[in-house]
Amino acid sequence: MSRLVLKAGKEKSLLRRHPWIYASAVARVEGSPASGATVEVRSADGRFLAWAAYSAASTIRARAWSFSEAERVDGGLLKQRVRSAVQRREPMAAESNALRLVFGEADGLPGLIVDRYADQLVTQFQSAGADAWRDELIGSLTEATGCSNIYDRSDGATRAREGLPEISGVLRGADPPTQIEVVEHGLRFLVDVRRGHKTGYYIDQRGNRRAARALAESHVERSGRGPRCLNCFCYTGGFSIAMLAGGAGLVHSIDSSADALRLAAEHVTLNQLSPDRARWEDADVFTALRALKAQGEQFDIIVLDPPKFASSHHHVDRAARAYKDINLNALRLLAPGGSLLTFSCSGAIDVDLFQKIVAGAVIDSGAEAWMVARLGAGEDHPLMMTVPESEYLKGLHLVRVA
Ligand code: SAH
Repeated sequence: MSRLVLKAGKEKSLLRRHPWIYASAVARVEGSPASGATVEVRSADGRFLAWAAYSAASTIRARAWSFSEAERVDGGLLKQRVRSAVQRREPMAAESNALRLVFGEADGLPGLIVDRYADQLVTQFQSAGADAWRDELIGSLTEATGCSNIYDRSDGATRAREGLPEISGVLRGADPPTQIEVVEHGLRFLVDVRRGHKTGYYIDQRGNRRAARALAESHVERSGRGPRCLNCFCYTGGFSIAMLAGGAGLVHSIDSSADALRLAAEHVTLNQLSPDRARWEDADVFTALRALKAQGEQFDIIVLDPPKFASSHHHVDRAARAYKDINLNALRLLAPGGSLLTFSCSGAIDVDLFQKIVAGAVIDSGAEAWMVARLGAGEDHPLMMTVPESEYLKGLHLVRVA
């Protein structure tokens, strides 16, 4: 068994059960572990700290599988973790059959993502450790879920950082159909697991799409008319469909992907909603928001769910300016009493910073606004309390009061 010995003082985060060991914390490597191999981690004074997966290429040089010296890292341990991850999501099946079944660190499986779309599983092996246990993990997933079809989307940018090639393709069972139908809170969506974003769909926004629908419904109750809604970065129309189902009088949706918009429009008919109430715009949101203002438009509910503007800490300043710009221009379009649901999925921008950026936009817009709720990813993307970095999706619900 190879061993990582840490520099003096660098054991603190492991003692707090944070699973990442940065290259800069390692004093020396004893033995010559292959990437993905299990290594023992010890402090400078020789104390056992963890069993971890070694990653030769990554700045996160190892990720802990276990903090218990007595625990053995083997197929049996991983099988048990996969089984618990799947069991913990069972109560959520009533909400949707599109669920995240395994969420990396939170499920004790660093680097492994597994999403379920009806009977299709989609995997992402994002670390050398998860990749090394591929076969065992695939077997455990089939056993725990009863799903015989598994498709791999290990084509994200994170693999390059681990020195792993980008790959995708069938791991088990049949070729996935071009579109898989899922049902989320009673609404039907088509997911392309081969070419869609992430593993095909933004499962993490499920609860917030329901919140948007509830806002539309309460607007109808209060005013007797359907709200005018704006959905920016709409992708395949998740929030748009939810707001239409909630009784929106109009949903104007913007995205720069023609393919996503085509599928979004299909979702209107699939859900037997009125196409007359849905307006789709293939445009850049930054310019489209200004154009809508120039046209004198106003909306009762606005959703801003942009892609990750900051891919790392180096891009935080530029990303902050981009977030401020869209939030400012969205606030200028918001009717008094209206709601803005604004999100950031940049892990490098924490909730405090995001709130400050949006507050800056509120000040510059001249509007007065309340924050009535903080929003986040659904329960199938839990935040491990010891790993606060895994909180990537954050949102604010603002109400314009003047
Ligand atoms: N809210 C969606 C997910 C949004 S993902 C849901 O619930 O499913 C972000 C989307 O932003 C992608 O569809 C991408 O095509 C789009 N996008 C990225 N940059 C854009 C830009 N500058 N203008 C318009 N759309 C953009």
